Amino acid sequence: MPWCCAHCLRTPAYRPAGSPRLPRKGRQQMTQRFLITCAPPNPNGDLHLGHLSGPFFGADVLRRYLRARGRQAVYVAYTDDHSIYVPRRANELGLTARETAARYTRRIEQTLALADMLPDHYSHPHRDSRHDRFVRNHFLELWKNGTIAEQELPTPYCPSCQVFRYEAYLRGRCRFCGVPSDGTYCEDCGLPQDPGGLHDARCVACGTAPEYRPSRRLVVPLSAFADRLTAVFVASPWRQRVLDYVTGLVEQGLPDVPISREADYGLPVPLADWSGHVLDTWFSGIFGYLAATAGYGAAIGEPGLWRELWQEPETVIVHFIGFDCSFSHAVLWPALLLALGEYQTPTHVISNEFYNLEGEKFSTSRGHAIWGSEFLREAAPDAVRLHLARTNPEYEKSDFRSAEFDRTVNDVLVGTLESWAAAVFDELAAQADSVIPAVESTQGSPTVRALAEDLPDRLAREFEPDTFSLRGAAGTLVEAVGAAAGEWGAAPSHAEPGELAAHLELLATLAAVAAPLMPGWSAHTARQLGLRVGLDGLAWPRPGLPVLVPGQRVAPRFQRLFQARQ
Ligand SMILES: [Zn+2]
Ligand SMILES: [Zn+2]
Repeated sequence: MPWCCAHCLRTPAYRPAGSPRLPRKGRQQMTQRFLITCAPPNPNGDLHLGHLSGPFFGADVLRRYLRARGRQAVYVAYTDDHSIYVPRRANELGLTARETAARYTRRIEQTLALADMLPDHYSHPHRDSRHDRFVRNHFLELWKNGTIAEQELPTPYCPSCQVFRYEAYLRGRCRFCGVPSDGTYCEDCGLPQDPGGLHDARCVACGTAPEYRPSRRLVVPLSAFADRLTAVFVASPWRQRVLDYVTGLVEQGLPDVPISREADYGLPVPLADWSGHVLDTWFSGIFGYLAATAGYGAAIGEPGLWRELWQEPETVIVHFIGFDCSFSHAVLWPALLLALGEYQTPTHVISNEFYNLEGEKFSTSRGHAIWGSEFLREAAPDAVRLHLARTNPEYEKSDFRSAEFDRTVNDVLVGTLESWAAAVFDELAAQADSVIPAVESTQGSPTVRALAEDLPDRLAREFEPDTFSLRGAAGTLVEAVGAAAGEWGAAPSHAEPGELAAHLELLATLAAVAAPLMPGWSAHTARQLGLRVGLDGLAWPRPGLPVLVPGQRVAPRFQRLFQARQ
């Protein structure tokens, strides 16, 4: 079962892009393979456009690009069922935590399916015991090898609720940068707030200021890993903001990180005298990735695949994260992988910043949000994807603005891209009965020919993990579309076969290289051009080889995919 759940097999709309394919090692010894992950979402709400601009999108685009180039890539993820945000939301809804997690996991998957971003395997810890087993076994290994220690730490305690308060149940200001934050990691600077505490902290349930009481905690003293982690960072082409963050942390001295809590929700600490304590998901999350990879392997009948992928140096591990997940993905989890001694650390950590709505943070409680499930039903998913890429918060905060989205649709997609495509198809129908002319490759506008030749390399630079940039890719595409339409408009005559052939070849090239960003439009256009679209989409253009086949008949008219927005 290669899809994320049985439901995906039954519902065509759920079918993720391409065919997951990672051949056995024996068949392709020493081949570089890509393992792509996206930060696990909390199943405490549906996804809004801010969520969709982030790790899900980047992971999906990279997977599509790699497969189009014939490289082996798999994208796995899991839902953060054990997050403390789940019972908080359950209390608000009057549901159990399991019911809440199941409800929102289903909605998240439906939204990802609408956006064409579903992972190849999306693991559900509440339904798949593999997750808990992986966490427990790896915890015990780390406990036995001395990576985990015990300390008594001052911990926020609500005297009114009479419980220790953590993460979702604490709200205050970051003690480093002062912005509003919950109790674990600052959403803005990404620095840990536990132990030490937030400024002006309040219990979310009752508003009382917490006291700090001693509590027995399990911790990972990270200072022991400083040199080995530094060796990992120095050799890694991680996104610069993450590298700056980890370098700063190492210079300040790596902290002892608490990994357990006195709480009644979560995976219990699997030690005899730790009843009433659970493991922090910010600790256990890395084993969620391992378990999700194992779930994928089991689904395709390769139970040993997860070990190969996580252990072999040929695997390129790419984490897509929101910047506020930097501590776990770039510091704590690499340290745990090093401590276990048998796994590879991530090759790439690609972070993004916050995506705001009309200049302000998305806020569910204030109703300041555009939900993916609603928006993707009224706007074409590929238009949304292109716009999220154009305005992506990859290096700094950015905004979704409705007027800008309308311009992307009306000016770029409808007014330029598809108007140009329709004009080329109409002219081909009038001049050559919709048959692609056989001409010398030197005929037609040199500018249009050069655009088609250069575009695959230019887009590849934006999609390769070392230099991955959704903004760069979208910008290059939009610029090429404008140039193509401009050349068409400026041409003295469209009747010349070489001119038509050059524009058709550029359109086919655009369809191929746009596929990671706009898979639906790419396939839709390719089919109209008479091209074969495989399970992994259109193959990436090869240098010196035309995409189109002369003599092939194309559709008599170009059928548009996008509609102008009013
Ligand atoms: Zn901060
Ligand atoms: Zn309280």
